[in-house]
Amino acid sequence: MTLHIHTPLIESRPLSLAAGSNVWLKLDALQPCGSFKLRGVGHACEVHHARGARHFVSSSGGNAGLAVAYAGRKLGVPVTVVVPETTTDRAKDLLRLEGAKVVVHGSSWQEANALAQTLVGPDDAFIHPFDDPLLWAGHASLVDEVAEAGMKPDAVVLSVGGGGLLSGVVEGLQRNGWGDVPVLAVETEGAASLHAAMQAGHSVELERIASVATSLGAKRVADQALVCVQQHPVHSHLVSDRAALEACERFLLDHRVLVEPACGAALALAYAPGALAQYQNVLVVVCGGATATLEQIQAWLQQVD
Ligand SMILES: *Cc1c(COP(=O)(O)O)cnc(C)c1O
Repeated sequence: MTLHIHTPLIESRPLSLAAGSNVWLKLDALQPCGSFKLRGVGHACEVHHARGARHFVSSSGGNAGLAVAYAGRKLGVPVTVVVPETTTDRAKDLLRLEGAKVVVHGSSWQEANALAQTLVGPDDAFIHPFDDPLLWAGHASLVDEVAEAGMKPDAVVLSVGGGGLLSGVVEGLQRNGWGDVPVLAVETEGAASLHAAMQAGHSVELERIASVATSLGAKRVADQALVCVQQHPVHSHLVSDRAALEACERFLLDHRVLVEPACGAALALAYAPGALAQYQNVLVVVCGGATATLEQIQAWLQQVD
């Protein structure tokens, strides 16, 4: 028994026609709390629960916090999520819907996270949103499911925030003997922390995040993301906020699934004519995201260049 579900793997006719390759979708937007995060977070929470943790603490107002709240409810472990004042009412409502205690503190994530750290007692577990080997091991199950389905892709497209998904997918590719399958790592231009690190050859802290893809907003990627880049073929791609938002709208029409711009970034690469032309079969990780509404996406489209 795992907390995450096996998600559908489908061939997308609209995306295949747009890309000129066979595009396969791993629909992790259909995880019970709306994103792939449940794979890694669920695994981490199960391990901590088995070790006797009595309380889970998170400082993510996004999909990681939601996954912790969901996992805690399922395991019967109380959850506290500390979020900054900038967190939307929708995100707070979703967290409370999962039974989490929501504490609002500080004007930035740094301040919320600092308070969260003080709440972690000896019998508690702090669940990081992207930088933890337990998370990567859990995220790797996504590739196991594709391998079980008998589909070996020629490339994998995914979004990168702090690099947890990237680290997990690379772990999954390696453990299935697919070390030759390249990963196309997509970020929006205003949240390009992996791109900056790959250019510099070492981890870099961005001065600021300037993107509607809030779930990609890690100023610095996990060190493991750079290890992945050294040990596995990883190609960095950037898309505009507009392209990510338009991909969300188009994907909603094509597949009737609403995703966040963070996921739209990966989809935008598949919708960009010719971007995947050199690959015959491409796996796109539809990582999902529960915090954006259609109204929000349409409002952002009015605002971006
Ligand atoms: C967390 C998240 C990402 C980025 O994942 P990282 O592990 O931080 O790289 C992308 N899309 C969605 C919807 C997310 O919730």
